[in-house]
Order: sequence, then structure tokens, then C-alpha cells
Amino acid sequence: MAVKTFNEFSNYINGGWVPSNTKEGVTNRNPADLSDVVGSVQKSSAEDLEQAVTAASSAKREWRKLSGAERGNYLYKAAGLIENRKEDIAQCMTREMGKTLPEAKGETMRGAAILRYYAGEGMRKTGDVIPSTDKDALMFTTRAPLGVVGVITPWNFPVAIPVWKTAPALIYGNTVVLKPATEAAVTCAKIFECFEEAGFPAGVVNMVTGPGSVIGQGLADHPEVGGITFTGSNSVGKQIGQSALARGAKYQLEMGGKNPVIVTEDADLDQAVDATISGGLRSTGQKCTATSRVIVHSGVYEAFKEKLTAKVQEINTGNGLNEGVWMGPSVSESQLNTVLHYIERGKEEGGTVLCGGERLTGGEYDNGYFVAPTVFEDIETNMTIAQEEIFGPVLALMKVDSVDEAIELANDVEYGLSASIFTTNVQKMLAFIDDMEAGLVRINAESAGVELQAPFGGMKQSSSHSREQGEAAKEFFTDIKTVLVK
Ligand code: NAP
Repeated sequence: MAVKTFNEFSNYINGGWVPSNTKEGVTNRNPADLSDVVGSVQKSSAEDLEQAVTAASSAKREWRKLSGAERGNYLYKAAGLIENRKEDIAQCMTREMGKTLPEAKGETMRGAAILRYYAGEGMRKTGDVIPSTDKDALMFTTRAPLGVVGVITPWNFPVAIPVWKTAPALIYGNTVVLKPATEAAVTCAKIFECFEEAGFPAGVVNMVTGPGSVIGQGLADHPEVGGITFTGSNSVGKQIGQSALARGAKYQLEMGGKNPVIVTEDADLDQAVDATISGGLRSTGQKCTATSRVIVHSGVYEAFKEKLTAKVQEINTGNGLNEGVWMGPSVSESQLNTVLHYIERGKEEGGTVLCGGERLTGGEYDNGYFVAPTVFEDIETNMTIAQEEIFGPVLALMKVDSVDEAIELANDVEYGLSASIFTTNVQKMLAFIDDMEAGLVRINAESAGVELQAPFGGMKQSSSHSREQGEAAKEFFTDIKTVLVK
């Protein structure tokens, strides 16, 4: 049973909890039960941000001078603390942004695993020796941190995304000022409690909550911030990229997706149905890698549609704290309205609703932002719901007569984050790997998810084309120095 405590957080600056000079706060409620008040964070100002950047800047030299192993020890400690507080952090996450408790626990444990992975990275190589044409010279590369890194994160993974940006930033010798999404900032603050307990030196990790337009934009514009890593929507991402570019700072943007699943004639249909549901509807479709378009060969279309619709109708939607609930609410009223707007557009433009297609009402549903898991058919590629990211539990079925046609449709969007194919035919797998315009290409696996040690990121409008996670993160969080010794 969840203990519904109220959590009140200040900003975390220079190793302590500091209230905003605005004396204003933001209160977050459970989107599955609006009577459940989860907690509050500061509605900070540009002055609060300045304090945090100054602290991070003052701390950066000493932090950089530590060995990788010494920095790694702090990350190991933080990982253990997060693991110990798994129940509390996960419950807070479920209450604050609605994903189910098992998913929230999984995400929390992933946060700990990411910290451990990067703790180890502190012991791995940082450069290469390159033969010089001068026999008396030694030439090699080494890595330099960017200095202060600004981290701006979304609400849909309030632990995993802040951690997978902060951990590599720290291990490669940067200090951090993080601005979490307001809608899930209480959960993120709990991670900073663990950072505090892990004993990071003052100023090395800082968190400032508040409006994106003030704190997020302020980070992007700040001359002391050497790099900005952002995950969120395309419109905000592009603006941040432009601001960073204008002052010569490094930037990394991970943005939206419109991820397809292709189901071929030779696919294992049960596997494809389960993966489509899991990839498309878990976390209420609020994942950048969520399946959104389902492109099915005409030979198996009817059978697939029947199995899929039957299973989607069985989904138990409710408060993610309750056992047996498989899908929670949309994160907010505005997100709910966005999803309902797209469902209406789908109907207006000629799509047929096979199941769902409306807000859930009655009983507990009236206390939250619930939308029924929805499947559309008769979707053409030029329709709005086949092109724009919905970020909700909506699947759009499209029918094709060949794999070539399927891949062409799959690529016919501005995004390129993740894509899956279900097939037992090796030639089709190879064609898909070769022709698919996506950063994550998955065979007989759902579109959502990637292991933490593997590069993560998108093509086209989904990303600024750098990669997060694993060793690939080093490319963003450091600059190469080429050294010649004679
Ligand atoms: P968002 O509205 O773009 O917000 C992301 C972050 O940017 C939040 O911290 C937000 O702060 C901040 N922000 C908002 N306006 C800003 C501005 N003018 N200047 C600077 N920062 C600003 O995105 P979201 O709604 O939180 O997340 C959903 C989006 O994230 C979807 O498009 C999804 O696809 C994408 N996403 C992508 C990935 C990926 O890895 N590719 C992963 C997860 C999510 P406030 O919360 O205070 O507004």
C-alpha cells in the first residue's frame, strides 16, 4: 500500500537545499487521482539559476582534477542509495506522472545501473596513441571535459533520463546544473537527495526547478555553460540548439518520434501483437520510442487486427499504484487534451476507430486524466495521426502489399528514432536494417527500449545526431585534445 506523503523540495545548489528567491512554488498532483497531492518544488528565477551556475563553475576545476576512479566512487555510492530507496522513489514517480509501479521500479533500478556503468567508465581508456612521422615525438589524444554542463529533461522518464545525462557528464569531469521537467520534478529531486547523501563535493551537481522558458532557456544562453544536453519536444529542442550554437556551446538534442512497426506475412503474429501493445501502450504511449504506426501485410492484416484489438480491449487502465493496473493516465490535462485532439483529427480525416477513441469516464476515471487505449484503421500516410507525434495510447494500422512498400511508408515521416520489423525471413531483416531511417532498428523486438550500454539516439528530426548512453556518450561530454610531446 502506498504511503501518500507530501514532498517539499528547494533547489539543490552548492551542496545544500536552497529555497528560490521568488518564494513561489509549483504543486504536483497525481494525474490518476487529483486528490493525491504529491509535492511541491520551487518556481525559480534567473537569479537562482545564476547561483547554481556559479557554484558549478567554481567546482569544476577540482572535480576535473580527480582521477576517473575517484569520481566513479561517488557514482557507485549514489547507485546504492537509489537502489535502497527504490520503493519510495518509484511510488513518487507513479504518483507524480502516472506510470505503473512495476515500470517505475524498473526505471529506478535502471537509474542505479546507469550510475554503476559510468562509475566503471572512470577506469577505461581516454585516448589513443597515434604514430607520429617524427621518430622523436609521442603523439596521443586525451579527453577534456566541457566544464559546466546544462541538463534539461522531460517528465516521461524522471529518473532514467536525468541520470543517463548526469552520470556521463560527471564521470568525464564536468559539473552539472540540471533543470527537470516541472511535471515530474519532485521525483527527480529525490535523486538529488541520493546525490547529496553520496557526498559529491559542493557545486558538482546542482538542480534548479522552474519554468522552461526561464531556467531551461537561461541554461542554453549562459556563457559559463559549455554544453547543453536536452531531451524533450522538437520545438523546444530546436530553440535550445539555436541558442547554444549562437554562442559556440556544444549541444545535444533528443526529441520526438513517430515509430513504426512492420508486420510481414511470415511474422509470428502473437509475438508481433504483444510487442506492438507493449511498445505502443506501456507508459500510456508516453515514450519517445513508443510504437505509433503499425504497418501490416495485407495477407495477415485481418488476423493481426483481430488479435490486436481483442488484447487492447482487455487492458486494465487505472491508477498505477494499484496492483493489476497495466496502463495509467496521461501525465496532465493538457497532454490528455492533446491526445483527444489527435483522436478527433483521426476520425475527421477518415480513420476508423476499432477500439477506444475517447476519454474514460465514471468512477475513479473522473478523478484523473484517462484515455482509452485506442486502435485506428483506414489510416493513410498523409493523415495527421500518421505524421505527428501523439505521445498517447493510440495505434494507427496501415495495410501494405510488400516489404518494400512497408519500409517506404515507415520512412515517410520527418522523424527517425526507432523502428521494428516482425519477420522470420533473413532477406527482409537485412533490407530493413539497410533501408530504415532510424537510430534504433529492431528485429522481432518492440520499438521501445534500448540497453543502457548501447548508443541511443535518432536520425532526421528526432535528434541532433549525437548519441547518448554507453561509451558513445563520451563524444558529447568531452572534447578531444591532440597532444604532441617532443
Ligand atoms: P518539452 O515540453 O519540450 O520539455 C522538455 C524540457 O524542456 C522540460 O524540462 C521543460 O521545462 C523544458 N522547456 C520547456 N520550454 C522550454 C524553453 N522555452 N526553453 C528551455 N527549456 C524549456 O517536452 P516534454 O513535454 O517534457 O516531453 C515530451 C517530449 O519529449 C516528446 O516530444 C518526446 O518524444 C520527447 N522525448 C524524447 C526522448 C528521446 O530520447 N528522444 C525521450 C523522452 C521524451 P518545463 O517542464 O518546465 O516546461
